[in-house]
Amino acid sequence: MAQGVIKKEDLYRLLSTAAGKKKVYAPIDGVGGIEFAEIHEQKEITLDYSNSKLSPKSIFFPQREVLCTFADDALEEVQTPKEALIVFGIRPCDALSLTYLDKVFSDSAGRFKDPYYLKRRENAVIISLACKEPRATCFCTSVGGSPSGKEGADILVYELADKLLFESCSDRGQDFMKTASVLFKQAEEDHKTAAKEQAEKAKDGMPVLNLNGLKERVDKVFEDPLWDEITRNCLGCGACTYLCPTCHCFDITDEENRKGEGYRIRTWDSCQYPLFTLHASGHNPRVNKKQRMRQRIMHKYSYTVDNYGDIFCVGCGRCILYCPVNLDIRDMLNTLNKL
Ligand code: SF4
Ligand code: SF4
Repeated sequence: MAQGVIKKEDLYRLLSTAAGKKKVYAPIDGVGGIEFAEIHEQKEITLDYSNSKLSPKSIFFPQREVLCTFADDALEEVQTPKEALIVFGIRPCDALSLTYLDKVFSDSAGRFKDPYYLKRRENAVIISLACKEPRATCFCTSVGGSPSGKEGADILVYELADKLLFESCSDRGQDFMKTASVLFKQAEEDHKTAAKEQAEKAKDGMPVLNLNGLKERVDKVFEDPLWDEITRNCLGCGACTYLCPTCHCFDITDEENRKGEGYRIRTWDSCQYPLFTLHASGHNPRVNKKQRMRQRIMHKYSYTVDNYGDIFCVGCGRCILYCPVNLDIRDMLNTLNKL
């Protein structure tokens, strides 16, 4: 493991030095709040944030992307450039979520490989920023994460007053630090102690949910009337799924002009929408919101455990913070777990 310290004001210099020709993404204070965007200078970067509203999954799995173009009968696949990326500042919960998306978009379950996602992921260096003060809606420690978790990150960074302590967590992270070694100062004992104390403090403030045995319980209560109660206030807006870093459902549509030329486009979709499961026959297996919410919960806490061995929730709290009717997935899980 390599460690090194830089001044915050030197962050862009460090990232651009190590990046070479790679694109650098970092958190910026955008029009709609904190978001991840390609940056070109230090003043664009913000470190004053709990987490971004939209998760950084869109860097690897864009909300809308053209898969193919067609003209008459000829179909041409759009080649995603195998460009190298550095993504700085994603929170540990979101870094963990990338390991789950990797399982879906690689062939880990023996199903299919998604070349569009994988080409972006293959050459990405993920530099995660440890949380100092988790939000009241965060619960990463209840679902296997931590405010200073390293899973999914190549480097974990601690924010210490006017400095940043970098700690590599993978060979790729170590190589990154070697490339820019001239800019790092040695990490002193007081830096390491401050980082450790910060990590402990952040963890201590987290609420703890007892999710032991949840999968077995939700599997048994599929028909329970409680699902109606849990979902009564849901508007079906889909915000929870769009903002979730692990949700990965998409739709594919063709857009065509009068000459028969067009695009095949992939766009994010949501299990909370009535048309999501509408069959060509007109039959819809999930006609009401109870069925759709049950699918969301079962998918995250049961089906992905069967398919990939993991709960697909990293406790980022976005679905709680941005639900327009204050539905709290922690309350739902607590209720289901008591059945
Ligand atoms: S954000 Fe809230 S209201 Fe909207 S679909 Fe999700 S749970 Fe329902
Ligand atoms: S279900 Fe909610 S808390 Fe869990 S990862 Fe998705 S948005 Fe975050």
